[in-house]
Amino acid sequence: MTVNFTTDEKKLIKHAKKAIVKYNKMRHKKGSVDTLYSFLMSDSGKIHNGACFEPNIAQATICGERHAIASMVLDESYNAKIKYIVVADPVPEVQENSTPPCGTCRHIIWQFGTSKTSVICMQYIQRKNDWIFPKAEKYFIKDLYPYPYEPKEDLWK
Ligand SMILES: [Zn+2]
Repeated sequence: MTVNFTTDEKKLIKHAKKAIVKYNKMRHKKGSVDTLYSFLMSDSGKIHNGACFEPNIAQATICGERHAIASMVLDESYNAKIKYIVVADPVPEVQENSTPPCGTCRHIIWQFGTSKTSVICMQYIQRKNDWIFPKAEKYFIKDLYPYPYEPKEDLWK
């Protein structure tokens, strides 16, 4: 399958690959392992990074996507929008399909996205002290989350 990435999507993918190698090298040095990362470009063109947060209470885990989105909100307010978001999952060998966002993240990407927001799911594999990026697929959030839950914000007013 040939994927047609836009110039900005290519820029975000390039950033993601570089950051994944940088973060993984740091993690390995400190006795940790690879994780799921997420990188997004907002409507201002700014890039925000995220990684899966896994404390020792399972229900406190935060997905990489939501970490990146929370970072966008911190830097750019709740009015910022996601233009493109990368989800990069470590795999032992090439998989047929890369990991897509979980249901909660699909909703949050939809909430902070637009009808054009793309979700780029990629896989990466560790090779000795380097990482390769064999595969990526591109989706649109409107296709991954076609019937969104739309809570009424004025419910309690
Ligand atoms: Zn998630």
